Amino acid sequence: MILNDLKYIARDLASAPKDIVGRFARVPGIRAIVRQERCTGCSACVKKSFCRFGAIKVEDKKATVDDERCRGCGRCTHLCKREAFSLEVRPPRMVTEALRRIDNGITGLMK
Ligand code: SF4
Ligand code: SF4
Repeated sequence: MILNDLKYIARDLASAPKDIVGRFARVPGIRAIVRQERCTGCSACVKKSFCRFGAIKVEDKKATVDDERCRGCGRCTHLCKREAFSLEVRPPRMVTEALRRIDNGITGLMK
C-alpha cells in the first residue's frame, strides 16, 4: 500500500517542474537505496536534472545515496534505466499520513 502510493508520487515528481520538486519536504522513515548489482556506474544519476537534492554520487563505478540529503521523493526510482534505485520504507503511520499530504500537495500544484 505505502510502496504503491510512493510509486505514484515518484512518477509525478519525475516529471514535475523543479520549483515544485524543491518544495518536497523530507518524509520521515523513507530513503532511497541503490541495488548495487543493478548499477553499471553510468553516472547518469549525478547529473543535476536527476536528483534535485544532490543526494547521489558515483565512486568506483557504483552509485550511493547520501541519507542526509535524500528526501525520499522517489524520483530516482523512475529515472535510472537500470532500475537500480528503490525506496526503503519503515512504515509507521506517520509515513502514510505524510505521503497523503504530499500527494494532495502535488496534485494541487499541478492543476
Ligand atoms: S544508479 Fe543507475 S543511473 Fe546511477 S550510475 Fe547506477 S545505473 Fe547509472
Ligand atoms: S529519493 Fe532519489 S531523487 Fe529523491 S532525494 Fe533521494 S536520492 Fe534524490
